[in-house]
Amino acid sequence: MRVQEATAVPAGDTFIEHYERKIHSQKQLIELSKALNSNLDLRSLIDSILNVSLAQSRCLQAGVYLVPEVDYHSLVLNENFIGFEIANANDFVIPYKSDLVKLLAGHPTLLTLKEIKEIAAATAHSSLAEVDYQEAILQLSQLNENLLLVPLKAKGRINGILVMGPKSDGEAYLAEEKAFLSDLASLAAIAVENARLYELATVDMMTKLKIHHYFQARLREEMDSAQITKKPLGLLLTDIDHFKKFNDTYGHQVGDLVLKEVAKVLIKTARGRDTAARYGGEEFAIIAPGRSLEDMQKIAEKIRESIQKMRVPNPTDKGDEILKVTISIGVTVLRHDEDQENKEIIERADKALYAAKHGGRNRVEVLK
Ligand code: GH3
Ligand code: MG
Ligand code: MG
Repeated sequence: MRVQEATAVPAGDTFIEHYERKIHSQKQLIELSKALNSNLDLRSLIDSILNVSLAQSRCLQAGVYLVPEVDYHSLVLNENFIGFEIANANDFVIPYKSDLVKLLAGHPTLLTLKEIKEIAAATAHSSLAEVDYQEAILQLSQLNENLLLVPLKAKGRINGILVMGPKSDGEAYLAEEKAFLSDLASLAAIAVENARLYELATVDMMTKLKIHHYFQARLREEMDSAQITKKPLGLLLTDIDHFKKFNDTYGHQVGDLVLKEVAKVLIKTARGRDTAARYGGEEFAIIAPGRSLEDMQKIAEKIRESIQKMRVPNPTDKGDEILKVTISIGVTVLRHDEDQENKEIIERADKALYAAKHGGRNRVEVLK
């Protein structure tokens, strides 16, 4: 981390107040460093970054542009932004190759949007006048005319941009506040990179559900934990009904589309420590720590009903054909005194699922 230079005592602060504030911000950075490095969940990581930035700068608006998934084509505003009055974060995109990104990468200090505009005006004949650059500035202005842009740099390149609204007292950002945000950005960039890599390694790209290997590891952990605490542990397995026929009728791509919609229902249903995973092709699972058999049955019934009510317009159809599927669900809970291996609880959920299929499909079956 960069050592902060001694800064002049701002007007209105006593000498002691000034240094108390500096110590406070250093402490916050240490706390933040711990929190960020132990957090691999991108969503809560972003929340932490934004909340600390806001608290430290006494401002009411903040957001972060990130490089989505594998490519480095663009930076997109993350939907966890705070305070900006906009409808859709996904509309706010900065092309990665834009000279705006180059300018931020190469500039020694943080820049406000006003300063960026001045640089652009002063170099009107250079590439800084390019269309991408102008559009990016225009978009950023829609968030707020008085933004401060803080680049996140990891492994020598920008992987995000923190955008801060104006301070609530209307004053310009102080040098020490900029220094704090710059240090924060260095920590945040590494944490974001780690979380991104973790997500790439554990999440199925198509459905956004956790992959099979992660499911097995997580189930093992939760079984161990439940054996110690004696708390219940629920597991449900789902399988789409007659999906072969669905694929044969509409084609594999339309099948994929429906699969994604079914996955969304599971992701929405999973809460807190629950894990929604893609067990295999069109078979999904939820591991639910702390849930009794009755809870699990209710959750499964809710999922079954949501899928039955789901209406997906057929994208390959010129008319307005609506696609429908149903799913069968098998539910079980951990037998604390018996279950030793993952496969024991999985086999029971699978048996329940088999019973649901044989009971006529579009059903939930329970096996204690
Ligand atoms: P059942 O009601 O007994 O489950 O009938 P089913 O036809 O769904 O039978 P089964 O579950 O055995 O079939 C799974 C089918 O799911 C076969 C395969 O083509 C399809 N499938 C598996 N993974 C994918 C995928 O990623 N995309 C698409 N489109 N289809 C998939
Ligand atoms: Mg199947
Ligand atoms: Mg099936």
